[in-house]
Amino acid sequence: MENLSFLSADNAFRIRDQFTTPCYVYDEATLRANAAKVLAFPNAYGLSARYAMKACPNGNILRLFASLGLKIDASSGYEVERAIRMGVKPENISLSTQELPTNFKEYVEQGISVNICSLSQLERYGQEIPGGSVGLRFNPGLGSGGTQRTNVGGPASSFGIWHEHTDVAKELVAKYDLKVFRIHSHIGSGSDPEVWVRVIGLNFDILRQFPSVTTINLGGGYKVGRMPGEKTTDLQLIGTPMKKAFEDFAADTGRKIHLEVEPGTYLVANACILLSSVQDLTDTGESGYAFIKLDTGMTDNTRPSMYGAQHPMKIIPKDNEERPVKDYIVVGHCCESGDIFTPAPGDPEGLQPRTLVESKIGDLFVMGGAGAYCSSMASKNYNSFPESPEVMVRENGDLVLMRKKQTLDQILANETEIEL
Ligand SMILES: *Cc1c(COP(=O)(O)O)cnc(C)c1O
Repeated sequence: MENLSFLSADNAFRIRDQFTTPCYVYDEATLRANAAKVLAFPNAYGLSARYAMKACPNGNILRLFASLGLKIDASSGYEVERAIRMGVKPENISLSTQELPTNFKEYVEQGISVNICSLSQLERYGQEIPGGSVGLRFNPGLGSGGTQRTNVGGPASSFGIWHEHTDVAKELVAKYDLKVFRIHSHIGSGSDPEVWVRVIGLNFDILRQFPSVTTINLGGGYKVGRMPGEKTTDLQLIGTPMKKAFEDFAADTGRKIHLEVEPGTYLVANACILLSSVQDLTDTGESGYAFIKLDTGMTDNTRPSMYGAQHPMKIIPKDNEERPVKDYIVVGHCCESGDIFTPAPGDPEGLQPRTLVESKIGDLFVMGGAGAYCSSMASKNYNSFPESPEVMVRENGDLVLMRKKQTLDQILANETEIEL
């Protein structure tokens, strides 16, 4: 399985000895290769490529990507501050958020740009920064996320200004003398070139109503194949017809529009493996299931329980022996029936046994595709399990720690003691 291949069995044992399991293992070579592909996105009149840092905000990844020329998409004021602290230049940070921070004016004064995501955000922005420059995020009425929960466009999505409210947005822009320089639409468009061309068309329709706009930001949402047989978006394939659309728009209007893309998943998903250990085995009899219980769970990866997401898995037998295969339900270590790694695809309520090498307690367990929305979206400290360490396999083969395992003292750090 390709997505599991960067971690050799030797390194897996070494990591368990040195850093304990569970442990996220990132691959520097894959991170660099993904960044190079994003930075080569076809464009007619210039490209800004941003990393949507909510996918995996470890400072080492931010610094690596910044050093390669990627800018940052932040999804909260806290992410803005985190990126700045990691050395990202404020002018390279763009904020698109569901919750506009109360101190957003300070960020703008530092050089951060904001994509306004609702009419009330626009009103607030105008009141605090009249005459300022803004991006506007629209919901163009179309979406194509993998599941209802990852779909971020269309009438069931609260992200961005609904396209039918464009006139209201224009009135607010005029009222506060704002300069709209960017139109943003992140709808999770997947890997189909035709969908991307349609999205561009919808963006150009909005652009015609805002003559001051010089940049289109298409967000992220490039589908990545985690499981064998699933396809990863070919950025050249979807980008080439888009480039043509930009050229056609320029021929039609004289406006040479700058392109921004801001993938999260694409950059990191397959650059990480969640390494864990089999800590128990159980079964529910002849007509039931055989279960593998790991020393990880929703405390490190909630995607299967939230979306019915599928991750590639493999067992590394502790004694390197040859064993037959067997069907298993793989579960996490939380006292929570939803803590399951083998849901039915797209259906977190269902079960789909996985065929794996017959397992023994103490085996290593490798789960691929764990770079995006795993470490960052984990249900941290549930059952008081600590945050897991993060390790990077450097290009020269070195194994280096990029986040320590959390201690109980750190879990308790903010609790206060009341007199009882
Ligand atoms: C989450 C997000 C992204 C990245 O989405 P992926 O599916 O991880 O590529 C990009 N832009 C915005 C505004 C986002 O909220």
